[in-house]
Amino acid sequence: MATHEVLRAFRFALDPSETQVVALARYAGAARWAFNHALAIKQAAHQQWRAEVDALVKSGIAEPEARKAVKIAIPSKPAIQKAWVAERGDSRCDVDGSCPWWWEVNNYCFQSGFIDADASWRNWLSSLRGNRDGRRVGYPRYKKKGRSRDSFRLHHDVKRPSIRLLGHRRLNLPKLGEVRLHGSGKRLMRLAARGQAVIQSVTVSRAGSRWYASVLCKVQQELPQRPTARQRVGGLVGVDLGSAYLAVLSDRLHRDNPDSAVVEHPRRLKLSMDRLVKAQRALSRTVKGSARRAKAARKVARIHHQIAERRATDVHAFTKCLTSNFSHIAVEGFSVEGMIARETASGRSRRGSKLSSLFNRHLLDASLGEVKRQLSYKAPWYGATLIVLAPGEPVNLICSRCGAQNSRVTVSDSKFSCRDCGLHIARQQNAARNIMRAGRRSLGSVTSGSGETINARGGAVRPHTRSGVGRAALKREDTRSHRPGAIPRE
Ligand SMILES: [Zn+2]
Repeated sequence: MATHEVLRAFRFALDPSETQVVALARYAGAARWAFNHALAIKQAAHQQWRAEVDALVKSGIAEPEARKAVKIAIPSKPAIQKAWVAERGDSRCDVDGSCPWWWEVNNYCFQSGFIDADASWRNWLSSLRGNRDGRRVGYPRYKKKGRSRDSFRLHHDVKRPSIRLLGHRRLNLPKLGEVRLHGSGKRLMRLAARGQAVIQSVTVSRAGSRWYASVLCKVQQELPQRPTARQRVGGLVGVDLGSAYLAVLSDRLHRDNPDSAVVEHPRRLKLSMDRLVKAQRALSRTVKGSARRAKAARKVARIHHQIAERRATDVHAFTKCLTSNFSHIAVEGFSVEGMIARETASGRSRRGSKLSSLFNRHLLDASLGEVKRQLSYKAPWYGATLIVLAPGEPVNLICSRCGAQNSRVTVSDSKFSCRDCGLHIARQQNAARNIMRAGRRSLGSVTSGSGETINARGGAVRPHTRSGVGRAALKREDTRSHRPGAIPRE
């Protein structure tokens, strides 16, 4: 066993009392206020800069020079907070200001709101300059009550922790007090008692009608150095991720279940989907602005939320199963986005396959990307090795039995037929076997220990264990925005 320090989020559904629900909403409101306050200051500074640049351009100076000549800094958290403290007022002693009620909520609501505004400004700028991967980030927008997600983040002094579990069923939040957990906090409680988990911060957010607390911890995690007996028996498995099936494996996922090589997209989603369609129809029949419409809308939101939760649970169960049943897991190397684009371009969704009928494209993208992300951090947890094939490996075109190439097969076909040896199997199954072969080849070319990601270009890479998030994999913002110690205490 080797010990690594990782940041992990433990997510709990809360069962707050009615008064606590009011308090939670007020805290989220304060965080929203702080974000908007900081954003307004940034936008004002930006507009002033723009106006002065325009004035210079009008007077005959070239735009690039004008941009350089005007020096107006966009205020960030320290300056914004300092100004805010001076003018916020205080309703306890009748001092008027921008926010005289600030003392009613935890101060960290404001601090994390200011920090989040900094982050969204930074993201927009770096996206604008092309320094940022992923989707284009738009100009930061104000958070609207009822439209934006209700959430706030609290930090504490790690030496005198006020964010802590009391027993297995209650979470103490600074100033808010003890909130009952819907489930059990036993696992985190045990880790904390042994000194293996130190709570850094908590993000509380509302999803549907439920409140959740995501508790971010520094965890001393013991990583196994070699695969277990079960994993050694499982050996190497090739996994083809796709839209018709979530995954098709080159081998059974469970030894005793012959059907387990094919992993369907979470099946119980279908039931929820039916309920969703019904609820949406009911919503469309209501009158705008009526009380019944609001109620129907709440119901739709609740089902959406339920679907997301179930999907997340199933994906977690699958990735855990995969990483604990096999010593080596091979997956294709290209981006998930590219795969979906190819599949839809080839007409699969137009023909009304499962892809379009069951899944929102956006959600499917997210599921497959999520599987890969979870595999990359769970592999080292369980002593398995993830092998990511080099992009461009022709896993779909080659016959997995004789190696002949069938260039007519596209990702939208559900079957693979070989003209040379007559093999006729499901396309994804053929691909999974090829992925397994390719994985074995790249294994031969590198010496590997467990808990590593092999990127199939020869090098074995230690994964960034710091970025591994536990149960709260839905909430990527947890790992990005939580920088322990980033918030100075007042
Ligand atoms: Zn063949």
